[in-house]
Amino acid sequence: MKFLVVLVLILVNMSSKLDVLETRLKNGVKVLIVKKDSPISAVAIIVGSGAFSDPFKKSGLAHYTEHAMFKGLKDAEHGAEFSKFTKMTGANFNAFTGYNTTAFHTAVPSEYLDDLLKIESQRFNHFFIEKESALTERNVVLEELKMYNNYDSYLLFQDIMSGLYAKNNYRNSIAGYADEVNSFTVADVVKFRKRNYVANNMKIIVVSNVDKDVILKKLNHYFGKIRKNKYLKKSPDTTVDVDYPRSSYIVKRYSSQTGLNEVSMFWKMPSYNTNKKEMIAMSIAASIMGDKACTFAKTLIKDKQVATNIQTLHNTTYATNEGCPPNLFVIEATSTSKCNADDLVKNIKTELQNLINKGFSKDELQAIKDEFKIRNYYREDNSMNVFNFLINIGINYSYQDFLEYSEILEEIDIAYLNTTFKKYMSRTPDAIGKMMPLSAQHEVKSEKNNVK
Ligand SMILES: [Zn+2]
Repeated sequence: MKFLVVLVLILVNMSSKLDVLETRLKNGVKVLIVKKDSPISAVAIIVGSGAFSDPFKKSGLAHYTEHAMFKGLKDAEHGAEFSKFTKMTGANFNAFTGYNTTAFHTAVPSEYLDDLLKIESQRFNHFFIEKESALTERNVVLEELKMYNNYDSYLLFQDIMSGLYAKNNYRNSIAGYADEVNSFTVADVVKFRKRNYVANNMKIIVVSNVDKDVILKKLNHYFGKIRKNKYLKKSPDTTVDVDYPRSSYIVKRYSSQTGLNEVSMFWKMPSYNTNKKEMIAMSIAASIMGDKACTFAKTLIKDKQVATNIQTLHNTTYATNEGCPPNLFVIEATSTSKCNADDLVKNIKTELQNLINKGFSKDELQAIKDEFKIRNYYREDNSMNVFNFLINIGINYSYQDFLEYSEILEEIDIAYLNTTFKKYMSRTPDAIGKMMPLSAQHEVKSEKNNVK
């Protein structure tokens, strides 16, 4: 026991040694610079808008704009510079579009950091795209979309999102829909950029061995003139319509591969920032329930023999990434060959109610807390982990939020865990999807019961 305490203290000390500068540029761009020992520098430029900000009938515009940014060059010469730089440094320019984030990131040997920032600033400051390359890129996006549409899991995910978020843009595909993508023009991209790629909607993260003040000076030089948009429509932290009557959703499907029924149940949760303590508690609950040793899983798998597999997930910001549903508590189960989907749902509901009544045990809570603690210390201590984490959670979170996690985790006791669990899980799933065969045509349809 004593050993554990000592170990924890050492870890806390180590994590606080991470050398961080968190500030803003003169035009308001948020900046986080993390000192790192090795001579590789990583840079991420994050725009706090993604698919959620797509205009009406222009689903996929944020994603298309991300693509266009790779063609968005002042002139042909710059294009040559871009590819020359990639060849010379081995830099791998990467980007992704999420619901509330579009992020551009790359890493180079530190001696090229200045060149990298210069090149990046050119496409942010002097974006220009030829009509012809805009059309070519549109076809690239359409091909990407075709590829997604071949995945059952993508279609299923879209079905779930449109069922859960009937009233806002989360219902739409991040990649868009072919007919809408086909209508995109250069003017659409320019307009989207003008609205969203603005100083008060940006964050730059640099992890480097170069002196922090030197980097800050460079960032002000290269990015300090990006204008603000005082009419910026901020995209929500994540879930805005959490109180919308359809608080949860069930999808049932039949897998032709295994011949078994699969059931997914979804409960909408508030965003991490709305109530960090509650959301960390729900993540703990999800981790306990997913453990095969937990009574919930054990009863369904071993005692009742209705399920062969149970998975429980809760994506707080800690897991937010492209393609991940924002703030959902998910129970996924696969039936045994003897059990149909309806019976499986019924049994899950019964066991869930038993768990709500009985609550989790102190030991279960402690085991997960220890696991989370170790995972988090590991994250805190490694500058690249911090980098990856902060890219994924978007521009609204600070390094402080990241550090706070351990403190909040410590505050959660068994009474708090059980009360929070009861609060969110007592809402019964009220929209039932119909049996969905994973068909060759990939036709995904489900009935969404309209909630009065
Ligand atoms: Zn893409």
